[in-house]
Amino acid sequence: MDKTELTEKQKILMEKLADAEMVLVGIGEEFNESFTDINKFPKLMSALEEVDINPLLEWTVPFLEKRYLLEHNDGRLIEAYKRLYELIKDKNYFIITTCIDENIKKAAFDLERLVEPCGNYKMFQCSEKCCTKLYPAEEFSNLVNQAILDGVGLDSLEIPKCPVCGKPLAFNNILCERNYVEEGYQPQWEKYTKWLQLTLNKKLCVLELGVEMNLPNIIRWPFEKAAYYNKKASFFRINGSLYQMTEELSDKGISIGMNAIDFLYGCQ
Ligand SMILES: [Zn+2]
Repeated sequence: MDKTELTEKQKILMEKLADAEMVLVGIGEEFNESFTDINKFPKLMSALEEVDINPLLEWTVPFLEKRYLLEHNDGRLIEAYKRLYELIKDKNYFIITTCIDENIKKAAFDLERLVEPCGNYKMFQCSEKCCTKLYPAEEFSNLVNQAILDGVGLDSLEIPKCPVCGKPLAFNNILCERNYVEEGYQPQWEKYTKWLQLTLNKKLCVLELGVEMNLPNIIRWPFEKAAYYNKKASFFRINGSLYQMTEELSDKGISIGMNAIDFLYGCQ
């Protein structure tokens, strides 16, 4: 895609956004945290070295990741979220993301308008899914942080246990695979589906940002459907590799073959 074509498509996007009554945003794999800046956090690095030496401490890795996510507040990814916020902040929007890293919350989005169906690092669940109860993870996360800061060693910690069955607790996100407890995001999901129903006769602008094909039934397919059935919809698929538009949406869909973070980074 050459520069003129990109500028032209950017212009159409701005016009459609300005004109839209509702904006549906999907955020996918291109936004997943890559932990590339971890070497900027020496205490976390030495904790990871401790895990390398003692595989029994493997269970602490998600806690170290959470710590990184809390402390890492700059870089292109965060800036891209801030640019996105500027684009849609005055709109009636809803965002659905498959990311579990909560980086999106570092921009000022209204959290009532966000659903994270793949979970995040906020709550614990039983790793064996003996029941669907969720527990706040904050207190234990603080203990891990203290151990890292004090340099007392991760082996001073004990893995948190499910109060019902005694099996280890895990963060309530899709890394639990088939044991993932879906109750955590359900209240927001209900808000999302109600919001989506209201889009039918409205001027809807759909922004699909960096969504690949790992979980197509969460964003890609439902978004295509929402745009297809709405006569006033516009649909933007922004993706570095999987930007092709389906035949059915050729009249209202615009493909932008560019990494969505780079694209947002270029939006003023
Ligand atoms: Zn349990």
